[in-house]
Amino acid sequence: MIKEGDADRSKVLDRTLDKLYEKKREVSTWKYVLLVVVYFFTNSIVSISASSMSDISFFGYNVPVYSFAGVFSSLANICVLILAMYFGEKGFFTALVVVVVQLPIIVINIILRHNLTSIPGVFNNLLTIIAICLVYFSNKKIRSVQKQMQDQAMKDVLTGLPNWFACTELVNQLANQRVPFAVVSVDLNGFKSVNDSMGIDTGNLVLMEIAARWKQIADDGLSGTLDFVARLSADEFSVIIRNYKSDEDILNTIKMYDTALEDHFYVSGSEFSISASFGYAVMYEDADTLEKLLPYADAAMREVKRQGSSNHIIRFKSDMASTEEGLQLESKVKAAIENGTVFYVLQPQFDMNHKLRGFEALARMKDEEGKLISTADFIPVAERCGLIDKLDGIVFRKASAFIGNIIRETGADIILSLNVSVRHLMMNSFPTEILQLLEMSGIPASQLEIEVTESIMIESMEKAKHFVEEIRNMGIQIAIDDFGTGYSSLSYLNSVPANLLKIDKSFIDEMNNGENSKAYVAAIISLGHIMGLDVISEGVEEEDQIDTLKEIGCDYIQGYVWGRPLSPEDAQKLVMESVK
Ligand code: C2E
Ligand code: MG
Ligand code: MG
Repeated sequence: MIKEGDADRSKVLDRTLDKLYEKKREVSTWKYVLLVVVYFFTNSIVSISASSMSDISFFGYNVPVYSFAGVFSSLANICVLILAMYFGEKGFFTALVVVVVQLPIIVINIILRHNLTSIPGVFNNLLTIIAICLVYFSNKKIRSVQKQMQDQAMKDVLTGLPNWFACTELVNQLANQRVPFAVVSVDLNGFKSVNDSMGIDTGNLVLMEIAARWKQIADDGLSGTLDFVARLSADEFSVIIRNYKSDEDILNTIKMYDTALEDHFYVSGSEFSISASFGYAVMYEDADTLEKLLPYADAAMREVKRQGSSNHIIRFKSDMASTEEGLQLESKVKAAIENGTVFYVLQPQFDMNHKLRGFEALARMKDEEGKLISTADFIPVAERCGLIDKLDGIVFRKASAFIGNIIRETGADIILSLNVSVRHLMMNSFPTEILQLLEMSGIPASQLEIEVTESIMIESMEKAKHFVEEIRNMGIQIAIDDFGTGYSSLSYLNSVPANLLKIDKSFIDEMNNGENSKAYVAAIISLGHIMGLDVISEGVEEEDQIDTLKEIGCDYIQGYVWGRPLSPEDAQKLVMESVK
């Protein structure tokens, strides 16, 4: 038998595949031994019972022992048939030998002892031999068809390499056996352009040539490690590397697969040069579970693509995991924005007498499993990938249409507050968008409020001020959100045409923890009032915070204490109650 890692490594891939099937087909030795023992036991009882003259009591009846001989004989036959059916060649030959060797014994018994009662035994034996052969050969035929089907299921038809399924089976087995291995995620660079420019047939020939070069390295053990190359999908491959002594061995092996692509490809009379991106991760060093390892190798491969440098090989590093999670989140956010599955909730705002002032619309997003994604996660992602204005826009349109309807139906004097991102605010189309929003929703301008965070105003003061002034001139309200976190100067605050100051939750949290903190909030409120602004406190969670805010002259509050963010339907009910 060829041992893995031996000099003779021919057909490593095929052998690995065979091993994968064998694992499934493996039959236990103890069952085999048990069947043989039961066979000999029942068979020896056959002749003893056949010649017995005594009776046994069976449910009150006396039954002659010899009448059980047929039962034992059938049991013995079943044993050999099971051997021939389920235990492969070993079972077949064992069954054949144990039955055939009895034939001469029975014949000698008949001749020497003139025991004619044994003659049916000869026929019984001959028929059993025929049955064993029939069972074995038809089973063998079924197995060969099965093997063919398994081959097809485990092999990629185009290249003959093992496919994704075989690759998954192997890594699962290796992980179960706790064998160290490295997974290399391979993606061809620019293969799509070969397909697009030369046609799929030529593309297929190139893939076959690449597979042949890599298969040779694995089959002939040229890399010095034990490699398994699989084609996962169109131009994606995977190499599983085992039997390495050091990290350097792994890298050298991958370099060999990379170098194998250096020689140009001559296909259909054309010359091609193809390269690939190799990202890899090592089991137990880079990841402790398969669930992590495979995405890590992919993340490293994508890092190669991102860097786009001449270095085609990168090993996974822990910071790639966050990049990878970021990418996954990015695609979720993109999908939610593009499919319009972003939705909104409405958090009520009240005056100090608990009278409804209005609602702040807050964006919400769910992933494919229906779990809410935190705003702290998706808002920065939407900002980073330039989709925040689209996200704002969805909330703007949906929330204003809903609140516009309520205002029309009830005549309620409520305000809708919308959060705007800096990117969105500074788009030249922003004022027009707001005008359209007013027209479409029918909300009076004085009942629409745009929240601009203090930090936006500081970072891009002049430009932001210009846009804010423009919408303020339409009669729209302006709120400065998260006030206190941006360290803005007094003179600056004075120059912004806002009408509401929103004190950030962090100050409200601290407010009752000491006189200084309370004095600080009181100062902000006074400051706002001096500049002609109303002041609302955000994130009010406790009754005694309300008491303090009343004492120091706050105008409005928004917080879980009086109202968590509500579904539009619940917000509507709240409006109905407030206008009664
Ligand atoms: P924000 O505009 O300051 O909104 C207030 C945040 O405080 C909301 O979190 C709200 O749910 C939360 N909050 C209100 N009261 C309480 C309270 O009593 N306790 C606690 N612990 N939290 C409270 P949310 O919805 O997670 O929004 C976070 C931020 O995301 C918002 O801060 C806003 O800056 C941004 N955002 C939300 N929706 C949008 C949107 O449609 N567009 C843009 N550009 N940003 C949005
Ligand atoms: Mg806000
Ligand atoms: Mg805020």
